[in-house]
Parts: sequence; structure tokens; C-alpha cells
Amino acid sequence: MSDRRTVINETAVATHCPYCALQCAMTLRRAAPDGAVPVTVEPRDFATNRGGLCQKGWTAAAVLAVPDRLTTPLARPRRGQPLEAVGWDDALDLVAGRLSALRAASGPDSVAVFGSGGLTNEKAYMLGKFARIALGTPEVDYNGRFCMSSAAAAGLRAFGVDRGLPFPVTDLGEADVVMLVGANVAETMPPLLGHLATAVLVVVDPRRTPTAELALSRGGLHLQPAAGTDMVLALGMLHLAVTEDLLDRGYVESRTTGFAETWAHAVHWWPERAERVTGVAAADMRSAVTLLGRAPRAYLLTGRGTEQHATGTDSVSAWINLALALGMPGSTGRGYGCLTGQGNGQGGREHGQKADQLPGYRQINDPQARAHVARTWGVDPADLPGPGRSAYELLDSLGRPGGPRALLVFGSNIAVSAPDARRVHARLAASDLLVVADFVLSETAAMADVVLPVTQWAEEDGTVTNLEGRVLRRRRAVTPPPGVRSDLWVLHQLAVRLGQPADRFPVRPDAAFAELCAASAGGAADYAGLSYTRIDAGEALHWPCPAPAHPGTPRVFARGFGHADGRARFVPVRQRGPAEPPDDDYPLTATTGRVLAHYQSGAQTRRVPELLSAAPEAYVEVHPDTAARLGFSGGELVDVVSRRGAATVRLRCEPGIRLDTVFLPFHFAGRHSANLVTNTALDPVSRMPEFKFCAVRLERAR
Ligand code: SF4
Repeated sequence: MSDRRTVINETAVATHCPYCALQCAMTLRRAAPDGAVPVTVEPRDFATNRGGLCQKGWTAAAVLAVPDRLTTPLARPRRGQPLEAVGWDDALDLVAGRLSALRAASGPDSVAVFGSGGLTNEKAYMLGKFARIALGTPEVDYNGRFCMSSAAAAGLRAFGVDRGLPFPVTDLGEADVVMLVGANVAETMPPLLGHLATAVLVVVDPRRTPTAELALSRGGLHLQPAAGTDMVLALGMLHLAVTEDLLDRGYVESRTTGFAETWAHAVHWWPERAERVTGVAAADMRSAVTLLGRAPRAYLLTGRGTEQHATGTDSVSAWINLALALGMPGSTGRGYGCLTGQGNGQGGREHGQKADQLPGYRQINDPQARAHVARTWGVDPADLPGPGRSAYELLDSLGRPGGPRALLVFGSNIAVSAPDARRVHARLAASDLLVVADFVLSETAAMADVVLPVTQWAEEDGTVTNLEGRVLRRRRAVTPPPGVRSDLWVLHQLAVRLGQPADRFPVRPDAAFAELCAASAGGAADYAGLSYTRIDAGEALHWPCPAPAHPGTPRVFARGFGHADGRARFVPVRQRGPAEPPDDDYPLTATTGRVLAHYQSGAQTRRVPELLSAAPEAYVEVHPDTAARLGFSGGELVDVVSRRGAATVRLRCEPGIRLDTVFLPFHFAGRHSANLVTNTALDPVSRMPEFKFCAVRLERAR
């Protein structure tokens, strides 16, 4: 059904895509009155996307007109009964009353909040403030913990600052060589390829992805390690960097510390030994290191493939060690970066919705950080809670003794996106109260006791921070359907009902942003000099930007790294294998990832007809020889079975995948969900679950 809502601007609204962290620029224009969508999307020339959009961006207007859009709050009269429409006051009174009762009976830790890397900076900031001030709970985390927390942790260890790309995307356009580790950008952010047009590509991936195909077609390399062995590959390549005389000794001596201890571990990973573990030929490792080490302009970029492991932080550290040995980070024309995934994955982890952080990328245990933020919020630092549980640990503690009993979810579909989905569903069901704010009845919202219909993307103003740390404006182009409210309004209303002063939780995005900027002042992610006015004027503002006259910091490590001595740290890592190696009962390795047509849990893209027809169902990619050996053929339904559950999916024969590995896209729900099989083993530093490795077997679908 068409959604004929008011278009705010008669001519054109300049904004950015609702999906991934490239945040491609687009212009929304009023659509023809008889069209199916209220606006049309046109690509807009911008530094990051150079006028390009992927299929998801082109079809983004359809999300504004989904037929099952929520337009009224819903609540269950009782658990087990269907959701029914209720008024806003009734819904908010119900939620606030239940939260107050739980806090009074069991303390503030009995309520928890779960946010998203898809929320604008304003919402992410206000959500963290709401949790810590209005609820007084330490239990707040977000789905970015599942996305790039390992790279963030490794970046902090090495550089003292975590900014995904510490240089503008456009710098990649000058590169001679770009190495992509566990990043399938040809499917996840195709317009980025425009910046890689002249570079020789080296792709590290257990699958021959479209990105790997592209690398090979242009004379580059595809290194295809066994899943879960990236760290050994990086150690072997570091060994080669030294033995092939590619070590940048001047850089290592003047700009880093810790090389000797790191080399003491890497010395044991001579290339032939690394080859035996990874399956990557020593000669290919040598070619890759030589390309990276000899090229005047070279970049090493990591993605989810290397970090979504129980060893993810150390794996990323191993790649950073290689980049440091080759003198790349912070050098002119050379660099290391992490490709952020979610639309506001960068900003979402800077402003306080993470269990261990306060706004400005401050650590919640730091007394000075607490004092600054408490002063901004007008509260006593002693009243700020300490760190809470990480995302999976929070979900797994729901309804258990000592764990939270209520959960408020904003913009996250954890019933699909969290690992070990059956277990997470059981924990959600065991809570006393589940409240979900979303714009459609996602799989998580469908389980909720109360559902709050909120605005989306082009219906609201705000900012996001893209993968290169540049702060961008998302602008309102259409009015939301009647009955829908903004997340900021919901948080304000709940906070007031919980006894907070009304002016402590602003509803206007510009007011929230001004407060966020003040709260971030002096932090690593310092936004103090930013304003809507400056961004609207077209300034390219990358944080830190500490003052209104400051031009921003496109290349954050150009003058030094974030540690007090200005040096980067080599971090010694020791090889550890995956948490659940294959065995006789579960002989294959399952890994998960994204496809071109869908985004994250699919709650949005599965509702866009063009995207759904492009990728209509879940599947498992299996090497044809593996399928034949097991007696399966392409096209049949199979169960992919792990120790935790089974996902029913269609088998696809794919000669580009390793014989011992299968691949499942994670955008599908119900019995097709890849996360029915994934492992909850957590990285000890980042608390990232091991999405990219678990032991499975294939069975005929039951
Ligand atoms: Fe949107 Fe990312 Fe596609 Fe660009 S690459 S159009 S930001 S989904």
C-alpha cells in the first residue's frame, strides 16, 4: 500500500543512506503522487561515494512505505496474549510503572537497555544518558558489540584511539596496493570500489568472494586461509616482513614501542609453518608482504571476517603489528584502517551506549571522565553507575538470578542478530518485561510486551559518523505517519515519568547534538567544535574537532598516535585456535556474513520487494565436492546442525569455498536464521562473540 505522507521540502533534501557505514550521499525528491513511495532516491556526488549507490541505497525509499509500518503503540494484556493497540499515554505509563516497580523491588540493575549502531549520534547519546541517569543502571550495551568491538579494542591498544579509518576514504584512491582482510566490500559497500580502481588488491578470505574475484581479475592475490587461522597468517607475514628485509626500522624505532616482544613470538611462525596451519602457500604470503612493503602507497584494511572470533582482538592486533612493521599507520600515502559495518557504527560507539563508555569515547572507570560527564548532566559523579555487562552477557543474564528482569530495546533486532538464537529467545522470554522501539514489527518486537512505533531515517533530523570519522547530517524529508513518535521523544516521556526534570532529556535533535558535543569535549572523540550549522555549510569535519574554529582532523595519526608518548604499540599475540574446532560429529566449519541485497538482520531489507526478490531466502554455500561426498546436490533443503541448533536452508554449490568450510548469510529469521548455529564464545578483551567460526554438519532437512 502506498504511503502518501507529506514531503517536507518541495524540491530536494540532501541526506545519506539509511544502511552501512559508507553513508553514501543521496538526494530525496518528492515522488509522483500516484507512486508507491513518498520520495525518490538520487545518488549525490560526495567524497565517499562519488555519486554511487548500491542496490540497497537505490531502493531505500521503499523502507519509508513498508505496508506493515507500525503506527500505534502495542501492548499485551498479559504474557501469551496477542499484542493490542493502545494509546501513547497508556503505553508509556505502563512501561514507566513497570520499570519503577522493578527498580523499587530489585534495584536499578534489574532494568537494562539495548541500543544500536544504526541509531543517530543524538539517540545513542541520549540512550546512554537515559540508562545511567533516568534508570540508574549500568546495564546498557548495543549491537555494535557484535559488529566491530574487536577492531575497536585492538585499535585502542595499538594507537590509543579507535577511529575506524584514521584517514579519509579518498586517500585510498592514490593507493598502489590495498590489502583487504575479511572484508567483502564488493558486496557490502560497492561504491568503495571506486576508490580502489587503480590499486592492486590482495584479499584475505576463506571464500572466493566477489572481492576476491575482482582482485584476481586485476592481477592481485587471493589468500584463502582456513577459517579461524588469520592470526597465524598475519604472524607468518610479519615473519616474512623481517626476513625479507621489509621491516621499516626507522619507523619502528621512532614511532612505535614493543617490537622486540612481538618479534619474539612471530619468529616461531616461519612461513612454511604458517602455511601448514593456514593452507596459504608461503610463496603467496611472500608475494603479499612484498607488494605491501615495497609499494610507495599501500593500505591494510580489516573487516568482520578477522574480528568476529573469540580471538578477534588478537587477530586484529596481529594485522596491526604487520602494518606497523611495514611503517604504514600514520604515514603519508600508507595506512591501516578498519572498515566499520553499521551506518553509525563509529558514532554509536563514541557517545555512551556501550557498557564501558561515557560520551566522547571516555572510559566509564576514569574518575576525570565521570566528573566531566556528570557536570554536563547536572548530577553527582557518584551517582553514575560503573561498567555493565557486554551485549551477549547482558542478554544471557536476562531473568536469571542477579540479572536484569526488564529490557528496553531501541533499533536492534537481537532475536535475529545475536548468537545462539534459541538461547537468546529463551532469555528474552524469561524476562519480566520486554519493550521494543522500532518502526516495524521486527522478530524482536514480535516477542515484546510493549512495542513503541518510532520514526526512521528520512523522517527525522540527526547526525551519523561515517567509517572515516566524518560527522554527517541526516535530514528530515517526510513527516512520519500519524501516531509515530521519535526515539528522543520516547526517552523524554519515559524519563519524566521516572521523575527526571523535563529539560534534562531534550526532544529536539539539534539540542541533543549540542549537549552531546559539550559532553564529548576533551574526550578522544571530541565533537565540541561541531554544529549542525557547520555541517550544513558543507564542511568536511572529522573528529576530533575541539573548537568551533577547528578544521577537524582528517588524518588523526599524522602527527602522532593517541598514547601519551605519541607512539603506537606493537602488541605481542600468541596463536589460539577457535573455541569449537570441528570433530567427527561436526566435521565442517560454518562461517557467516552478508550478501549484496540485504543488511544486518534483514528487518528493513527483507521488506523491500526488489531486494527480497534479489535474495529471497537463506542458503548455505558448500563446495561441490563436499556436497557430493555427503550425498547432497545444489538446490535441496538441508539442515546445518551445530551443538546449539539447526538452520534449515537451501544448499548452493560454490566451487570458490574451501572444502572444509560452509557459509551462511545471517539476514534471515525463524528456522532459517544462521544464528541458530553460531557460537557464543566471547573474545576476552572485546566480548565479541565468535560469529565466524563454529563446527557443524549437514543433514537432510527434516
Ligand atoms: Fe547505502 Fe552502504 Fe550501499 Fe552506500 S554502500 S548505498 S551506504 S548500503
